[in-house]
Amino acid sequence: MALRKIVIEGDPILRKKARALEKVSDKEREIFLDMLDTMREADGVGLAAPQVGLLKQMIVVEASDPDDIEKAKEEDREPLKLLYFLANPEIIEEEGCQEGVEGCLSVPGFVGTVKRPMKIKVKALDYHGEPVEIEVDRFLAVAISHEMDHLRGVLFTDKASDVKEEEYEDSIHGDS
Ligand SMILES: [Zn+2]
Repeated sequence: MALRKIVIEGDPILRKKARALEKVSDKEREIFLDMLDTMREADGVGLAAPQVGLLKQMIVVEASDPDDIEKAKEEDREPLKLLYFLANPEIIEEEGCQEGVEGCLSVPGFVGTVKRPMKIKVKALDYHGEPVEIEVDRFLAVAISHEMDHLRGVLFTDKASDVKEEEYEDSIHGDS
């Protein structure tokens, strides 16, 4: 695995549409692992291929399992993390609405309040290239839909009702 350089807002690649993969081969698996490394190094919870300069429909999300957060608090431990490698993701169902503060590794130093669906069902190819359907809600729905926006050239700042400079205390939240 290797670290890749994260592209910052202002680079035109962040505004382009990513191309669908024909299949997930060893080359794409290597990119997935590099993206994971790069995201973890930057303390992020998600990363999309255009953010490392590749116009491929690939995203990585790693975040706490919303179902385990309360239980982990009671048991005084870190919540379990869920990891998703998704290629060609498509939202096939969505439900409800939630609003929360987001940041982005490609827009360092800024946060904004964004409305997202509460729950989404996503069809994609997984790390092995197998078709999968996943249902996620709460923060995972936010993270996955944020990353999917990157695949069509959309940044959270386009959707946010307010964008402001991140305060130091906010920096403990993961950026994606
Ligand atoms: Zn982002």
